[in-house]
Amino acid sequence: MLKKIALLLSAVMVILIAIVLVKTIQFSKPIPVKESLAIPALPDSVVSHMQQAIHFKTVSFGSNLPIDSAAFKEFWQFVGKSYPLVTKSLTQQSFNEFSRVFKWEGKHPELKPYVFMAHIDVVPIEKATEKQWTVPAFGGILKNDQIYGRGAADDKACVISILETVEKLLKQGFQPERTIYLSFGHDEEIGGPRGAGTIANWFKENKIHPEVVIDEGGMITKEHFPELKRPIALIGVTEKGYMSFLVSVQLEGGHSSMPVPETAIDILCKGLVNLRKKQMPYKILPPLQEMLQRVGPGLSFVQRMAIANQWLFEPILVKGLEKDKGTNAMLRTTIVPTILQAGIKDNVIPGLATATVNTRILPGQSIEEVEAFIKKQMNDDRIVVKRTGPASEDGPPVSVESVAFKKVEAATYQVMKDVIPTPFVMIGGTDSKYFQPIADGVIKFTPGIDPKGFHGVDERINKSDLARMMFFYELLMKHAGR
Ligand SMILES: [Zn+2]
Repeated sequence: MLKKIALLLSAVMVILIAIVLVKTIQFSKPIPVKESLAIPALPDSVVSHMQQAIHFKTVSFGSNLPIDSAAFKEFWQFVGKSYPLVTKSLTQQSFNEFSRVFKWEGKHPELKPYVFMAHIDVVPIEKATEKQWTVPAFGGILKNDQIYGRGAADDKACVISILETVEKLLKQGFQPERTIYLSFGHDEEIGGPRGAGTIANWFKENKIHPEVVIDEGGMITKEHFPELKRPIALIGVTEKGYMSFLVSVQLEGGHSSMPVPETAIDILCKGLVNLRKKQMPYKILPPLQEMLQRVGPGLSFVQRMAIANQWLFEPILVKGLEKDKGTNAMLRTTIVPTILQAGIKDNVIPGLATATVNTRILPGQSIEEVEAFIKKQMNDDRIVVKRTGPASEDGPPVSVESVAFKKVEAATYQVMKDVIPTPFVMIGGTDSKYFQPIADGVIKFTPGIDPKGFHGVDERINKSDLARMMFFYELLMKHAGR
């Protein structure tokens, strides 16, 4: 009898191993390579326009902080002067003074339009990092074929590439099949309510329903999957939601010479430690699953085996993804304390201790669920949890079968040799979330390669990236047919 059971068990094991191996081998097909096109050379005028664009200090300092209006005004004067055909041939409209929409009428205005988005504002230079810049932050210096300056990558490269492309096509006498809108927000770095938010409302009020919207977002990376030895295009198909919570403890304070066993600071800190002990449950959303399917065949044998046999190895696969903070953030809602406040004097026990906890919410999950998780984890009735907003939420992921994804995917293949395009859930936020309810497909992607200095020191963009971005926009504008 025992012998029979042992035999049966070994047979089951052999079958199991056979299934795993067959599935792994079937999954290990080479990743397709599509033909790319030669990218037209970048005219010198584009570099000089890019350098000038960086000079204007179009900084968003904070939600309720004033901006340098003159800089924004001068930026638009520069656009007017530098792009005469755009200015002459497209109609334009301002929103809250500094955001702007250009309309380029298509041959078939009855067709749903395309919208090309970018933002003209930039983040400030952090005082503590000012000295680390090797060039003036608003100098627009060209060094080793790279243009340096705040906004070089985020997002003036997009603004300039879009405008340059339209100017170039107008010069060639091109008229798009569909109407094309250019939408430039001026407050993306503080959430975009006055810029893109107002513009999207205007689209809605005027019943303009775009087929495709393209904004900044994912880019091309050669760094994130080094074992692949091929560039990956991370095509953003939705973005995570955003919400902050204020957690606070109020207790009677007192003199520090006679401390009580537990103070407001103690309770708050314990709560925060408990909160950080456990992450929210993971979920492999369709874009991540698709990414694994597209990229997986180029990974190591063990990784391929895990992806091809998720019915058996999902926990191992997830463990691997959790190791990297970037892929972990694609798996789940993240929660982290970002501000702590308590106390006014070294010999006074404060009666109030507060912390701000920032959350990035996985599409499909609600703010209520996140709030409930925070309360449960902190596990102390004396800790009060309140939302501090502003909340942002995107829609469900755009399907890889949608027109928007397919058009962007096709253009991406054409502008980058050997590329593997894959859908991707954006971890950060963009202006394009406002367009999600009114468009068929919103895509967050530009084909720059591993940009340097995003929101940080020595922000820069390669001339070759600008050329690729322009070509990408050109292909999309030309292929925005019926
Ligand atoms: Zn940006």
